[in-house]
Amino acid sequence: MPRLVILGKQGAGKGTQCALLVNHYDIPHISTGDMLRAAVAEGTELGLKAKQIMDAGDLVSDEIILGIVEERLAHPDTEKGFLLDGFPRTDMQAQALTEMLAPAGIEVAIDIEVPDEVVTERMLARGRDDDTPEAIQRRLELYRAETAPLLNFYSEQNVLVSVDGLGSEEEVQDRIIHAIESIS
Ligand code: AMP
Repeated sequence: MPRLVILGKQGAGKGTQCALLVNHYDIPHISTGDMLRAAVAEGTELGLKAKQIMDAGDLVSDEIILGIVEERLAHPDTEKGFLLDGFPRTDMQAQALTEMLAPAGIEVAIDIEVPDEVVTERMLARGRDDDTPEAIQRRLELYRAETAPLLNFYSEQNVLVSVDGLGSEEEVQDRIIHAIESIS
């Protein structure tokens, strides 16, 4: 059963590719960004804490994120596999995820490669509340500093596939599915 992680900068097309992948494999889509946005919309305590951090393009604390992911992964629907989107984003989150899943691990970590200029243009065009030029810049910096090193982490475990994210949605999807099948 596929236990997948999707990496890649914001604006790399993760949202679209995730929707296609969870449909293809019939697995739950676990997006920490979506869960946080739902908490903000509901005005829960978590939402109140997270909103300012998200608007600034900063990262919500590992402690908060690990709490919500652990709770979500305990749900029985994840027994058939899952796609984690937007998590892990830091080394600490990746280590904690490995522990949570032990002795099984992530089967495939998918990286969607798109240049900074392209993701910046796409993010400005989608016009989300947290898509100010400053926040976009900040998220790209954090991606480079915190999340890009996870590519090595998964590459060392021989589960990383890197896919060119330029092209039509269908082209990118085909590349991802071929890459997953070549590894699992
Ligand atoms: P996303 O929808 O994945 O782009 O996430 C939107 C925002 O939620 C990010 O800019 C962060 O502020 C926060 N966020 C989502 N996932 C995480 C995570 N794994 N660790 C820390 N912050 C996160």
